[in-house]
Amino acid sequence: MSDERRRLLASIESIVGSAHVAEHAALKIDGLSADLLVHPASADEVAACLRICSDEGAAVVPAGLMSWLESGNQLKRCDVVLSLDRMNRVIEYSPPDLTATVQAGLTLRELNETAASERQWLPLDPPGFGSASLGAIASCNSSGALRLGFGTPRDYVIGLKLAHVDGTQSKCGGKVVKNVAGYDMNKLYVGSFGTLAGITELTFKLRPLPDRSATVMITSKYRGPLFKLATDVLGSDFQPASVVLTRRLGVSIGAGWPDDALLIRFVDSEPAVESQLRQIGNLTGDGCKVRDLDEAEAFSVWKAVADFDSHKVQVRLSVLLSSVPAEFEKALLSQSECVATADIGAGIIRMAFDASHRNAVDLIKKLRRTTTCGSVFVEKAPAEVRREVDAWSDVGSTAELMRSIKNSFDPHSILNPGKFVHGL
Ligand SMILES: Cc1cc2nc3c(=O)[nH]c(=O)nc-3n(C[C@H](O)[C@H](O)[C@H](O)COP(=O)(O)OP(=O)(O)OC[C@H]3O[C@@H](n4cnc5c(N)ncnc54)[C@H](O)[C@@H]3O)c2cc1C
Repeated sequence: MSDERRRLLASIESIVGSAHVAEHAALKIDGLSADLLVHPASADEVAACLRICSDEGAAVVPAGLMSWLESGNQLKRCDVVLSLDRMNRVIEYSPPDLTATVQAGLTLRELNETAASERQWLPLDPPGFGSASLGAIASCNSSGALRLGFGTPRDYVIGLKLAHVDGTQSKCGGKVVKNVAGYDMNKLYVGSFGTLAGITELTFKLRPLPDRSATVMITSKYRGPLFKLATDVLGSDFQPASVVLTRRLGVSIGAGWPDDALLIRFVDSEPAVESQLRQIGNLTGDGCKVRDLDEAEAFSVWKAVADFDSHKVQVRLSVLLSSVPAEFEKALLSQSECVATADIGAGIIRMAFDASHRNAVDLIKKLRRTTTCGSVFVEKAPAEVRREVDAWSDVGSTAELMRSIKNSFDPHSILNPGKFVHGL
């Protein structure tokens, strides 16, 4: 270990204690070995570690449970991983206000277990299915199929506490639902992939827990009638929480999973769900089969929709709502051997497939050329693929704005260097 690294280790140990720092040569992110894995216990310790790393010019990866660190663009440097997994407390929960303030390392599942005792919930279902830390979910603005009915983390974060690279801390937003005058700075940090600051605490607004969740699966020999049904449902008085067309989802239900299936989920009061379930049958055309999924089947299906994690490459197309069917068919023409979902009400198509490095690069480039009404984000791909294609599509002139924001928050680029749009 070099003298600089020995000094870094000693300084960080003096903050968090030697039991909470490990020299961790086995921890590799994008092929880079992190020298140190650090587990701070408080926001003050996170801020102090960031200041030390900044003074020593060490690159820092802020982390939660470290399940999805190889996301976004390739890291350029990685010296210290700051995992907030010990910071997993509910700090303040106020059921009458429907708000909860938590440390960033708490998982979505843990928050929802606490909130369920008061019949409340944070209605998000991002990949990772509950086991993701809330700091990471906010940092990546990760959402899932409930996005249609309930929105994204950006809609639920009402306050943040942040640790900055100069060792200072700041707060934005607050602990009450109506609190923002002027710029809502939460929106800047949510979705910034841990490249501007470490999120140490979050305040969420919660929703009342609905009485009932029910999922119907509609199958047909052809995708056309399924897209039409989805469009009819979305254009009518129905209030579905999710409307997702799935292709070759690897779930085994009854006689197996059909090639194409439309999933419609209602999450509401008992009478509202019952009446919508009854009416769905009236909308389905000839050749469509409708099946109500039981609770266990629905759980497996939505888990599979959230996590495509058995494939090497995953991409997400964000497209105009009106062009979802056309873009979905185009994407399948480019790569028919894939698992795919189309979130028809949110305009999000996800594809997962296995491909050699060369083919994956070519395919992502082709998808970017052929997706005329939207953008293509690389959710997951081996490091050598992400070296050749930017995880984000071209963001045009906003890249300069993002660069200047990064420069003012992290002038020496020590936070997740290279990970964000255009390698920021
Ligand atoms: C099996 C699996 C598959 C996934 N697939 C997808 C996918 O396809 N698409 C998708 O969008 N998401 C995906 N995710 C990510 C998921 O939605 C969550 O964002 C992730 O699970 C977060 O969990 P974590 O605590 O392990 O985060 P980590 O892996 O620790 O961190 C994830 C990212 O968030 C940043 N971060 C974490 N904590 C903080 C913090 N406190 N402050 C600032 N930055 C922070 C990290 O720097 C990193 O960039 C997947 C997760 C899993 C487990």
